[in-house]
Amino acid sequence: MSKQSKRREALLYHAKPKPGKIQVVPTKKYSSQRDLSLAYSPGVAEPCLEIEKDTENVYKYTNKGNLVAVISNGTAVLGLGNIGPEASKPVMEGKALLFKIFADIDVFDIEIGTEDVDAFIETVKNIAPTFGGINLEDIKAPEAFEIERRLKEELDIPVMHDDQHGTAIISAAALINAIEIAEKDITKVKIVISGAGAAAVSCTRLYKAFGAKPENIVMLDSKGVIRKSQKDLSAEKLEFATSRNIETLEEALMDADVFVGLSIADIVTPKMLKTMAANPIVFAMANPNPEIAYDVAIKVREDIIMATGRSDHPNQVNNVLGFPFIFRGALDVRATKINEAMKMAAVKALAELAKEPVPEQVNIAYGETRLNFGREYIIPKPFDPRLIASVPPAVAKAAMESGVAQSPITDWEKYVDDLNE
Ligand code: NAP
Ligand code: MG
Repeated sequence: MSKQSKRREALLYHAKPKPGKIQVVPTKKYSSQRDLSLAYSPGVAEPCLEIEKDTENVYKYTNKGNLVAVISNGTAVLGLGNIGPEASKPVMEGKALLFKIFADIDVFDIEIGTEDVDAFIETVKNIAPTFGGINLEDIKAPEAFEIERRLKEELDIPVMHDDQHGTAIISAAALINAIEIAEKDITKVKIVISGAGAAAVSCTRLYKAFGAKPENIVMLDSKGVIRKSQKDLSAEKLEFATSRNIETLEEALMDADVFVGLSIADIVTPKMLKTMAANPIVFAMANPNPEIAYDVAIKVREDIIMATGRSDHPNQVNNVLGFPFIFRGALDVRATKINEAMKMAAVKALAELAKEPVPEQVNIAYGETRLNFGREYIIPKPFDPRLIASVPPAVAKAAMESGVAQSPITDWEKYVDDLNE
């Protein structure tokens, strides 16, 4: 299909038959006068009064517990940059669609018309009573760090900035499995991170939580290797600055075991790739074009284990493997936050699932004859029907064990059955 016809197809998809991708659907009967007097006045006053007596009842009588706000101000949309709140709406509606189809979570997409951090936070706090959880989306760094940190502190519902943590969770699961396949050790691997933005920083933090050693990590930004000797580094960059005396990507990649790209296209050359250690792990995740093209990389290094952000190659690091299931688990135990323990539980559940035999319907959905744990299959596929019964229970359990679950699950068998419905 030509670029022009792909463009037309995408626009038509969004415009017809109704503009947009989501709508609101009633969940109660509404055909008789009696139904309406229950749905609205006077019947509706009864749940209002119950909730007035005890705010907790909002979870019993409204959709708050299954409603997530996907919130953006349009300042870092996909790879398109600061395109504004209205232009970000198709992405937020898309996210709503994914929440619904993968985890049956309802979403209101909210586009906020401010770039001011305080005004943004104030707006989110003021609308929070409506929602069971908040997914922050496509907000530019460094503002995104402060917005997420403060909202997590100040709200008692789960808040997650998906561009940071989604990527971190999926790529950490992929990394754990790639390291196992390469017969390496996470506490010993030399890791090069290209990029020091929202995604790179939170990915690196999570790899550390799984045992990666700070002294084995080199991070680069647009100016090259981030070094301790540099002046005026942001707190996030200082956290990953190296004391090694190197400056370029070329120097950093020499003998490295792992390359993680969350920066820009085509900065890794075949020559650099050749200098990496045996069985190199290369996650080139710049979108839409990776730090090195997949076809080039696999030709240069037959021993490579490669992942990208793209669906047209094996091992796609796709956030949709994470957010629907993480919020599902968090909502189902009424977690007050999404904490490190819950994120790590999601990572482990995803990594483990990739090692299980793949159901035939997944092979068929992806036109594969047989997907098997190995170099070309290190993370589950988004359309794997087992995700819903694997990740949310792991997240829910971690929430309970880490003391943030307000409504613990007791009957796990029933919970998993309900998820599978
Ligand atoms: P961001 O916050 O804007 O960060 C971009 C980072 O890349 C900045 O730290 C920037 O350096 C750095 N950079 C720019 N040119 C560079 C170069 N030549 N060498 C090394 N670093 C360079 O963006 P983000 O949200 O973290 O996303 C970064 C990239 O990852 C994007 O391409 C995005 O599409 C991709 N991504 C992919 C996935 C996925 O595959 N699932 C998920 C999230 C993000 P300065 O700090 O010096 O400006
Ligand atoms: Mg995003």
